[in-house]
Amino acid sequence: MANPAILTVDDDPAVSRAVARDVRRQYGDRYRVVRADSGEQALEALREIKLRGDRVAMLLADYRMPRMNGIQFLEAAMDLFPQARRVLLTAYADTDAAIDAINLVDVDHYLLKPWNPPQEKLYPVLDTLLAVWEQTPEPDVNEIRVIGHRWSAPSFAVRDLLARNLVRYRWLLADEPEGGRLLTAAGLTPADVPVVVTADGKSLVQPSEAELAAQVGLNTSPASDFYDLVVVGAGPAGLGAAVYGASEGLRTVLVEQRATGGQAGQSSRIENYLGFPDGVSGAQLTDRARRQALKFGAELLTTREVVGLDTAGSTRLLRFRDGTSIAAHTVVLATGVSYRILDAPGLAELTGSGVFYGSAATEAPACSGDEIYLVGGANSAGQAAMYFSHFASRVHLLIRGEDLGRSMSQYLIDQIERVENIEVHPFTEVVGAHGNGHLERLTLCDARTRESRMVETPWLFVFIGARPCTDWLGTGVVRDRHGFVLTGPDLVVEGRRPAGWTLPRDPYHLESSLPGVFAAGDVRADSLKRVASAVGEGAAAVALVHRYLAAQ
Ligand SMILES: Cc1cc2nc3c(=O)[nH]c(=O)nc-3n(C[C@H](O)[C@H](O)[C@H](O)COP(=O)(O)OP(=O)(O)OC[C@H]3O[C@@H](n4cnc5c(N)ncnc54)[C@H](O)[C@@H]3O)c2cc1C
Repeated sequence: MANPAILTVDDDPAVSRAVARDVRRQYGDRYRVVRADSGEQALEALREIKLRGDRVAMLLADYRMPRMNGIQFLEAAMDLFPQARRVLLTAYADTDAAIDAINLVDVDHYLLKPWNPPQEKLYPVLDTLLAVWEQTPEPDVNEIRVIGHRWSAPSFAVRDLLARNLVRYRWLLADEPEGGRLLTAAGLTPADVPVVVTADGKSLVQPSEAELAAQVGLNTSPASDFYDLVVVGAGPAGLGAAVYGASEGLRTVLVEQRATGGQAGQSSRIENYLGFPDGVSGAQLTDRARRQALKFGAELLTTREVVGLDTAGSTRLLRFRDGTSIAAHTVVLATGVSYRILDAPGLAELTGSGVFYGSAATEAPACSGDEIYLVGGANSAGQAAMYFSHFASRVHLLIRGEDLGRSMSQYLIDQIERVENIEVHPFTEVVGAHGNGHLERLTLCDARTRESRMVETPWLFVFIGARPCTDWLGTGVVRDRHGFVLTGPDLVVEGRRPAGWTLPRDPYHLESSLPGVFAAGDVRADSLKRVASAVGEGAAAVALVHRYLAAQ
């Protein structure tokens, strides 16, 4: 990270050079000295520094400058760097104006020109001011910053994408001082948010997912147009397939529409994955798996949605939403499942503004002290209830059935029973959501009596059902009536292989009805819907890829 800056501004070139020289001589090893010849030029330099996320320790401005005098400059500079120490350089004749300025714009000190010898007249003053600044440094902001509105779905989408891809960022509200200062520095207004300011100072206004991913250093373009293996979906199954594929010498690319980790990446604590007796968060597991895949040479593309699978002889072609495509000898489908949409009046309009699908861990700290509602009776909802109970004053878990016994692991049920601020509401459905711009109230209904009641809450998190992500597959890959991909023995009915199957063998265990195309994890019919089984199937699919390639 760059040293903090000391900025000097004087319209007289000789004086300007002299100030910068003296300051650099004494402080150049710890501070970067930036010199400007006018107030306008100095402000421009400050805006750039602000957008890059660097810090400014001190401003030294000449009082008598044309167009923008030193006081006007320091006043404007305070909007960008309120904590920087401020020094006005004045001639003896301007002493009165300088004294007024101390009161007017909170100047820390005025220095009479000339200041020779600097050891007596300049450095002691600056030493004191820098010591004060160092005790109250501005936060280290040399990172990505997201400026947005609290209850805005587009702002949430940006933060969610960054968080799920494990990209560090700082969240700033547009109507808070630091957010406002950054918007000013970028020449933007609160109407432009969400705005992302990258670590190198570039501001992105309402960026698309692909633009954002590319600008924050995520890989979005394939390096080649032909691979041995394309893995679609970077959840546990896809990551497992990528690690094994790449480590066993296959040219492997892993394609993900949104963020690595899949559903598991949203899990606050996975407690039943082998080798982690104290549990592991989805983010940690994802980070390790991703680094492992990259270490073995797998390519990882993010924010690239696959929308079609075609065949050309033995080549498999995968089409992306932007019309481009990649080809491969083999494919592992690991697209998992996504949450079903809860259907009740008002919910669609408030999605992202208080209503969230999945755990939306980014929102947890903002729930502090609030009563929140969760819908769902499976492990995902149970884990989320445990996680949010550390933040919310009360967590209401709404389930349609009588109790959690049928759908949740016993260890989670036991944990939930021990937490005082989680309340389970059996036979309860959400039938309406209300709010102006963001969620304010829910209408709940008793599934037995159909009696309804209204509750106040700004938060609803939905964890219902599993819809396989297979709509894009067309008719080439046979699925069951719910859309899950059929594989291996399930495709051979009464000794008959699937329609169109031409090979003189049955489909391998994890192979779909299209030779060379395998399925692993939650997307596969009758799969276990667990992290361990998804990883295992990803690895096993690669073994079958080798067998398929050997027979080609
Ligand atoms: C909150 C939560 C907690 C859970 N906790 C546990 C637990 O404690 N223990 C346990 O064993 N299991 C747990 N599970 C279940 C477990 O996470 C899943 O079984 C597992 O993630 C399945 O892995 P997968 O790779 O098959 O699919 P997924 O994890 O669903 O990943 C599929 C990936 O494919 C991507 N994708 C989909 N379509 C496309 C496309 N067209 N193009 C490109 N990419 C696409 C998706 O964006 C996604 O990233 C939990 C699930 C959730 C939601």
